[in-house]
Amino acid sequence: MTTQLTETKTRELTHFVGGRHVAGTSGRFSDVYDPSTGEVQATVPLASAAEVGAAIANAEEAQLEWGAWNPQRRARVLLKFLQLVDRDMDSLARLLSSEHGKTIADAKGDIQRGIEVIEFAAGGPHLLKGEYTTSAGTGIDVYSMRQPLGVVAGITPFNFPAMIPLWKMGPALAAGNSFILKPSERDPSVPLRIAELFLEAGLPAGVLNVVNGDKTAVDVLLTDDRVKAIGFVGSTPIAQYIYETAAAHGKRAQCFGGAKNHMIVMPDADLDQVADALIGAGYGSAGERCMAISVAVPVGKETGDALAAKLAERVKGLKIGHSHDENADYGPLINADAVTRVSAAIQAGIDEGAELLADGRGHVVEGYENGFYLGPTLFDNVTTDMSIYQEEVFGPVLIITRVDTYEEALRLPSEHKYGNGVSIYTRDGDTARDFSARVNTGMVGVNVPIPVPIAYHTFGGWKKSGFGDLNQHGPDSFRFYTKTKTVTSRWPSGIKDGTSFVIPTMH
Ligand code: NAD
Repeated sequence: MTTQLTETKTRELTHFVGGRHVAGTSGRFSDVYDPSTGEVQATVPLASAAEVGAAIANAEEAQLEWGAWNPQRRARVLLKFLQLVDRDMDSLARLLSSEHGKTIADAKGDIQRGIEVIEFAAGGPHLLKGEYTTSAGTGIDVYSMRQPLGVVAGITPFNFPAMIPLWKMGPALAAGNSFILKPSERDPSVPLRIAELFLEAGLPAGVLNVVNGDKTAVDVLLTDDRVKAIGFVGSTPIAQYIYETAAAHGKRAQCFGGAKNHMIVMPDADLDQVADALIGAGYGSAGERCMAISVAVPVGKETGDALAAKLAERVKGLKIGHSHDENADYGPLINADAVTRVSAAIQAGIDEGAELLADGRGHVVEGYENGFYLGPTLFDNVTTDMSIYQEEVFGPVLIITRVDTYEEALRLPSEHKYGNGVSIYTRDGDTARDFSARVNTGMVGVNVPIPVPIAYHTFGGWKKSGFGDLNQHGPDSFRFYTKTKTVTSRWPSGIKDGTSFVIPTMH
């Protein structure tokens, strides 16, 4: 079945609804590029409101059966899915890399971080057990159960086309919901392939649907009463819009947005280790990661001078290439607009007076002159009033903002409008502990550059990086995708209280 489904996937991509590929009927399409060559390699249909409505209807019907399966039976589908991803890892990574532009090794990391959440979600029966109190009052037992919400939806960004859809759908499906994914229209093929693999793993048709589209499709998901929860990841303005619209329509929403992640470099840090970490976390995946480090904050002049010199030297050695080039450190950006946007941010940095140590603009990869490439850009002496400090750039641009003291360093990420991740490099346990406790961001790395938590902890940023009150994956994800019902029962039922007009208390 998988082969057949894959073969029917022509260069005109489809939706995946009710367990099969469905051609788009809206007449609206978006181009899907190969960012390494700059060529259009497919078109993806943009769903009409009616097409999204049909997907919701399918999902609603399919959920009745799926939600009634016992949790362990549902978990077995996830376990089977893991085997299929393992079988197809190479082709999935190649497909992902060809649409996104990240290297194949990085594409495997994208899939792997998603897989870890499926592994976690396969343990869902444990998290769905609920709570029980025996003899809460005379003959009274109280228990709570977690029940699926029904139809839930995920709206996901281009930069992790496997990981983030899997983060959303894993816990949602394990908890007994049906799921509608609206992936990024820029790299939709891996999400479609994930839906095929889930079907092959035994997921009943209609439980997982992929609807491709833009604002038209999203707005139906946000306003249709049959959709009970929205999980979103993307840029901050859209995250805020999704959160407010979904909430106004009575839905649960968890919406994660943009970032400006700082790395504090204390004078006692090992600067070679720091430089390695910053180069990988700043330029990996062309800086198109919400957990990329984009601001290095050395404490003290000596640290700043030494760090700037090391970074300036290392960026010269970076290799930018076709995403399938095994020697490339990173590949192209997602599209030409991204190159234009990041180039404009670099120009703004220059105009505002930052010191340009390396300029990645105009980078050409031989043989792929139309690809969407940017070399690494490095700025020193960036001040906090500059737009290049305040705004997310989302490209291969690393800035150095120098401070004199630890307290100043602590204030920078704490006072920034974004609050996704932050990292500190130091050999001093007291400093690291104080920093972890006091910094005003959602995720902290201590001598770890990209502190994406492991699947059984939760992931989420603060301030403008996250709207809603529960995080992704970990136990929070099961809380988000279930509603709690609490039962108060008394046996034997023959106890006679008579009528009481007083609020019942346990005694
Ligand atoms: P984006 O906001 O442009 O798109 C995200 C999703 O929203 C896509 O599915 C897109 O089709 C949809 N969308 C776009 N415009 C819309 C509109 N006007 N109305 C309704 N839906 C709309 O984000 P992107 O460019 O795909 O992804 C990059 C952004 O995502 C960066 O800002 C990055 O920091 C952020 N991101 C955040 C996290 C996190 O966990 N905080 C993780 C990954 C990416």
